[in-house]
Amino acid sequence: MNKKNAVTIKPYERTEYAYDKLRVCRKCGSYTVLSQKVCPACGKRTLTDVPSAAKREVRRSMQSERLFAVLLALLAMFFADTIPWMAISAAAGLLLTAMLWVVQRRTTEAQIRIRTDRMFARDQNRIRHGMIQDIKAAEGLLEARPALAYEMLREVNTLLRNDPIRNLQAELLQTFVLRRDMDLLLEPLIMDGFSPHLAGYIGEVAKLNRELIKESAIRYCLRYEPQIRGMHRGEDILAAVAGAAVRMKRYIELYPEFIRRYTYKLPAERLERLREVISQHPGSFEQLKLEAEAVHRLRFGGRDSHASSNEGGQGGSSW
Ligand SMILES: [Zn+2]
Repeated sequence: MNKKNAVTIKPYERTEYAYDKLRVCRKCGSYTVLSQKVCPACGKRTLTDVPSAAKREVRRSMQSERLFAVLLALLAMFFADTIPWMAISAAAGLLLTAMLWVVQRRTTEAQIRIRTDRMFARDQNRIRHGMIQDIKAAEGLLEARPALAYEMLREVNTLLRNDPIRNLQAELLQTFVLRRDMDLLLEPLIMDGFSPHLAGYIGEVAKLNRELIKESAIRYCLRYEPQIRGMHRGEDILAAVAGAAVRMKRYIELYPEFIRRYTYKLPAERLERLREVISQHPGSFEQLKLEAEAVHRLRFGGRDSHASSNEGGQGGSSW
């Protein structure tokens, strides 16, 4: 393995919706997730978020509707023969415009939502093109500023999710010295195909922060177990994932065979955790129980490993 770089990675800013980070240029219509102000395509400081752009469009179309109503009223006045008819036309026009204005005010929020959806549908290709430009910008920084390139790809990944982007991120992450205090993401990187970079990353994450190992990561390891076993220290990766999985009874229920295959490689405290869960559910996990007890006997003979491993007892959340 090549030497790893110590880097600082900015925490990932989570947003309610994936498109919250998307910006569109008022000048040239380009989309980007990498900049908040300056448009990467035309260089102007004319970026705005999509709901704001939709709001502008809604306001503009509402203005034209009101203008049309006024125009209609003027036209009616123009064709009116007598003064009373002229007055009636003016009053009707005024009423119509006022009513329109009230209706518009009441429906503005809904209209903005509809317009936002429509913009996404209409600009699909332009958004895609913008994301591709963002990826190219990130790729240009792979050598010089890999941490920044990773951060940029991470942003693109919120909207455009595919294996090549995920793999590139996993590959970059494998060149970094990862630390527990880093804001590491795993779920968004789970790929459809096999990637040794991703497998290696999962193994590291399982050791650094096992809370991040969820069902998708376990299933990924199950799916590509033969490939991972074939990797350098592949069994360590699988054992680390099995060790992370035993923190939840649900995962033990779902993947007992997987955990059983790597029980012999679990560190003492993970083995204890596994034995504890099993002992709380007599009658379940028979095969797994046999394996855990056999491994325990082999390692500790008749001795109890509790004294040496963990005194925390129940209720500890770090299990
Ligand atoms: Zn622009």
